[in-house]
Amino acid sequence: MSNEIKSIHEFDINLICDYFSGLERQGPGSPGITIKALSFIDNLTEDSLIADLGCGTGGQTMVLAQNAPGQITGIDLFPKFIDLFNANAVKLNLQDRVKGIVGSMDNLRFGNEELDLIWSEGSIYNIGFERGLTEWRRFLKKGGFVAVSEASWFTPQRPAEIEDFWLDAYPGIDTVPNKIAQLQKAGYVPVAAFVLPEKCWTENFYVPQVKVQEAFLKKNPGNSNAAGFISNQRHETELYYKYKEFYGYAFYIGKKA
Ligand code: SAH
Repeated sequence: MSNEIKSIHEFDINLICDYFSGLERQGPGSPGITIKALSFIDNLTEDSLIADLGCGTGGQTMVLAQNAPGQITGIDLFPKFIDLFNANAVKLNLQDRVKGIVGSMDNLRFGNEELDLIWSEGSIYNIGFERGLTEWRRFLKKGGFVAVSEASWFTPQRPAEIEDFWLDAYPGIDTVPNKIAQLQKAGYVPVAAFVLPEKCWTENFYVPQVKVQEAFLKKNPGNSNAAGFISNQRHETELYYKYKEFYGYAFYIGKKA
């Protein structure tokens, strides 16, 4: 532990990391959906190199490793997530094929045309869908695949309340056909796109957070940052239940053209 005084920003990030560390997944998804997305990818062998960007604690990475051959590098900005990621790999005896390293998706150290597959569930929004797809493309071999899940509108129009929420949280959210067009424009053949079922958000993401929220508030009594963060999470959850017919996540799979 260092004695240096942390900025409020860093403090918040630590709180957020602490909160999400208690969850198996840090975004909506499921093992079945990871396997479904993987079913569109046909180029993998034991020599394949795969990167999972914004891997979190590795919920989806371990599923990927159990269902695909090759070496997987998980990359996440937060060291605490990477520690948990590597501990999970050891627990599942995957440590020879799955390694987590701290890094940023906007500053990747892979060589040109080194990777067979770039995976990113619920994370590409950190760099932006179009920017991520465009910048990551050079790391893929010709014919390599990208598979990402991303917040998407399901209808051409939405009620103002949810539109305003998302335009503030992530203005990159767009309709599924527009996202597919962006994938193509970034230099990929659109191989598949499908919407994640609601239970990836409800049962697998928001329901497990209820207990974590109670424990988190007990652990941080009188901490207004912690309380504020939890009320944001609860607001986000309520909006999902209210407006889930209008938005959610879709998986987009592309092949480097
Ligand atoms: N893929 C995981 C985590 C999704 S949450 C899952 O589906 O469960 C988004 C993740 O992106 C978090 O783990 C966060 O730490 C990570 N992240 C945020 N900014 C990042 C960046 N610039 N580079 C790499 N990872 C980043």
